[in-house]
Amino acid sequence: MEQTLSIIKPDAVAKNVVGQILSRFEAAGLRIAATKKTRLSRVDAEAFYAIHAERPFFKDLVDFMISGPVVVTVLEGEDAMAKNRELMGATNPAEAAPGTIRADFADSIDANAVHGSDSVENAEIEINFFFAQREIY
Ligand code: GDP
Repeated sequence: MEQTLSIIKPDAVAKNVVGQILSRFEAAGLRIAATKKTRLSRVDAEAFYAIHAERPFFKDLVDFMISGPVVVTVLEGEDAMAKNRELMGATNPAEAAPGTIRADFADSIDANAVHGSDSVENAEIEINFFFAQREIY
């Protein structure tokens, strides 16, 4: 079974739509193997998004990700990584397909409701960033 990491970002947590978003994963046949609410420190967020360190939006991204609590989830199922990316929709909610999480819950490219691993290799790294193996079922 493939696993991937989802983060419900501070905007969606503040909107109180955590349950609605988790329901979409379950409705699509993905299982919640682990989940928790947490708040990233600046050091955590900079490390998690290190791949974007040179991008002009890096500081805005880090500032946004530490602005409030997030809900991190390990999703498990067949093609979990690609399935989650499909459910999320395009990075810019203005371009996200109707019915996707970002089309329905996101306000801007910064406050875009969810993060999802973009490869199976990155999923493993991102899962290990947030969870110990004993927390994943
Ligand atoms: P994702 O995999 O769809 O989340 O997109 P990326 O990995 O490319 O980017 C990570 C996050 O950085 C996105 O979810 C956005 O919140 C933010 N981001 C990406 N591109 C831009 C941009 O051009 N401008 C701004 N302000 N933020 C961006």
